[in-house]
Amino acid sequence: MDYKDLANKIFPEAKDIAYYEEKYPERNLKEGAIVTRFAPSPTGFVHIGGLYQSLIARKLASQTEGVFLLRIEDTDQKREVENGITDIVQSLDNFGIEPDEGMISETEGKGIYGPYRQSMRKEIYQSYAKYLIEQGKAYPCFCTPEELDEMRTKQENAKIRPGYYGVWAKCRNITVEEAIHKIENGEKYIVRFKSPGREDRKIKHHDMIKGNVDFPENDQDIVIIKADGLPTYHFAHAVDDHLMRTTHVIRGDEWLSSVPLHLQLFHELGFKAPKYAHIAPIMKNDNGNKRKLSKRKDPEAAVSYYDEMGIPKEAVNEYLLNIANSNFENWRRANKDKSIDEFELQLNKMSVSGALFDMVKLLDVGKTVISKFTAEEVYENALKWAKGYDKELEEILQDKEYALKIFGIERGNKKPRKDIAKWSDVKENIEYMYDDKFLTKEQEYPYQVINEKEDIDKILDLYMKNYYDENDDKQQWFDKIKELAGSLGYAKEVKEYKANPDNYKAHVGDVSTVLRVALTGRTNTPDMYEIMQVLGKESIEKRFELAKKK
Ligand code: GLU
Repeated sequence: MDYKDLANKIFPEAKDIAYYEEKYPERNLKEGAIVTRFAPSPTGFVHIGGLYQSLIARKLASQTEGVFLLRIEDTDQKREVENGITDIVQSLDNFGIEPDEGMISETEGKGIYGPYRQSMRKEIYQSYAKYLIEQGKAYPCFCTPEELDEMRTKQENAKIRPGYYGVWAKCRNITVEEAIHKIENGEKYIVRFKSPGREDRKIKHHDMIKGNVDFPENDQDIVIIKADGLPTYHFAHAVDDHLMRTTHVIRGDEWLSSVPLHLQLFHELGFKAPKYAHIAPIMKNDNGNKRKLSKRKDPEAAVSYYDEMGIPKEAVNEYLLNIANSNFENWRRANKDKSIDEFELQLNKMSVSGALFDMVKLLDVGKTVISKFTAEEVYENALKWAKGYDKELEEILQDKEYALKIFGIERGNKKPRKDIAKWSDVKENIEYMYDDKFLTKEQEYPYQVINEKEDIDKILDLYMKNYYDENDDKQQWFDKIKELAGSLGYAKEVKEYKANPDNYKAHVGDVSTVLRVALTGRTNTPDMYEIMQVLGKESIEKRFELAKKK
């Protein structure tokens, strides 16, 4: 009896690997095309780090006319949740990331290198495990959990490296006859890889991000097929990335230390190994301590957070590129109006240690991104967000024509307004433009330099009586505010005031502030001329009356 008999005993149905090698041929892509993937487990939580990885993978594939695929790694069935795949697909889609191949729902995929869900690939893994057994490179292991525990305790007590290797690999030398006998007796087993490695030898690895790294060889006889017949991550990685013809494995750097094992698996399976790029996690500054963004502690670790807050996907993507490549910022400065699709991302410019996530910076990017939107785009996005998260805003936005006028204020010019960083800012920023909100609420009036009731009333009255004309253009409008100021003894020019402060009570800017505060309840608003245009005479009058009552 030989290895072939053992292999047949364990996997009698498994196909010859030649079948799969032919079914999933080398891809016919142009030189330099990157085939890469995002390979999450469907745990129901999509981490911002996963989005970061996908964005990088998607971009590199697009830049090189390669392929980006979504593979679902669901071999750990304990961790699974309902609709976990849909969540992932939807999250990527929300950020405009569309895989070329891979799962598109819980059960369906697109592309000819599938299935793209590991639990649907059981026979494939078994064929390759069988192939290894046939060559004496894998074997059944009959050790019980109790035996393995006992072994671990012994290793711990003796302060010996833990694991199933060397003399500790008890089942490694069981004869074929004995193994077959045990199987026929109904003994439980799993399948282990027979590692040819030696711990005292080193391997050199070149990582596309981390650079050159040395590791001891792997000598662990890791499990490749579990008791449920499904593969472990390591084995599935080798088989899948080979058969999907992945050229670049881009993944989190928690896998860097598994590289020796993975290279060994590729080698023993007779596969060409892919290139590896290990991405450092996104970090957070927590009271001066740099730590990973944590699913448990940081709401911003979940991609759903950005949706809830209404941070535009364009801003998130742009910000992630910012932390991916430090030269992005310069590129953006030189190419203000280009789409991020035109930025050439480079793996070797990624930081080796984790980049810091800075919410303030992200919101700043959000402001710039939204400032470039048309009023119509702002409206559509704000409405979409409001439908999911803010009924009151949804209501406010029902009058589209009026909303477009508000969003149109200071938009489309050289220095567009930058007051909205996220859709959840919109309500606060437009509410005061609605009479039914503004006039019915108890208003605070934060007047500044001019704050005597008598002076304020005078300014408001005189303005409406002698100076306001809705047909004025902006220059006429402003000239009239100067005249108003002059007629009440305020300086018509700030310059004049500064030259002789004792001659005046205040200046034209202070008079403008009175108008602004009476109109909006705020000291800071977009252009007041445009605001008055949008409000119209009747509303302005009502607002001044209300202000005078205070
Ligand atoms: N399923 C693995 C994870 O969730 C994928 C790692 C890889 O990309 O190979 O981390």
